[in-house]
Amino acid sequence: MERTFAIIKPDAVERNLIGKILERIESKGFRIAAMKRARLTLEQAEGFYHVHKERPFFKDLTTYMSAGGPVVLLVLEKDNAITGWRELMGATNPKDAADGTIRKEFAVDIEKNSVHGSDSPENAAFEISYFFSQTEILS
Ligand code: ATP
Ligand code: MG
Repeated sequence: MERTFAIIKPDAVERNLIGKILERIESKGFRIAAMKRARLTLEQAEGFYHVHKERPFFKDLTTYMSAGGPVVLLVLEKDNAITGWRELMGATNPKDAADGTIRKEFAVDIEKNSVHGSDSPENAAFEISYFFSQTEILS
C-alpha cells in the first residue's frame, strides 16, 4: 500500500466540483486516509512549491493557490497510489490530457488544472508531512 498527496485546487472548489472529484477517486479504489479544507497562505504555497521557485510561473501559481480560494488537501492510499493518481489526473495541460482524466474533464487551463498529485515517493512524504500530522492520517 502506497500513499500519495493530492489537492483539489481553488478552481475546482469554486465550481463545486469537490464531490465529483472525490467520486472519481473512490471509484478508482483509492482510500481517503486524510482530508481537510484549507485556505493556504502565500508563504505556505511558496514552501509547498519550492521546487518550482525558479520557474516563470512560480509567482502566478503561488498567488492562485493562496488567494484563489480554499483548497481540499488529501492523503490517498492504494497500491501504486502515486502513479495511479497521476494517471487519473491526466497531463498538466488539459489540452494534452487523455479522455477520462480529471484534468481533461474539469481543468480550466495549464495553471487552473483542478488537481495536484505528488510525483515521487520522496515528494509524497514531504507533501503529506507539510500539511498533515501522523495522527490525522487514518489507514
Ligand atoms: P501538480 O504538481 O500540480 O500535480 P504537475 O506535476 O502536472 O502538476 P508541475 O510541472 O509540477 O505539474 O507544475 C505544478 C503546477 O504549476 C501545475 O499543476 C500548474 O498548476 C502550474 N504550471 C505548470 N506549468 C505551468 C505553465 N507553463 N504555466 C502556468 N502554470 C503552470
Ligand atoms: Mg508536479
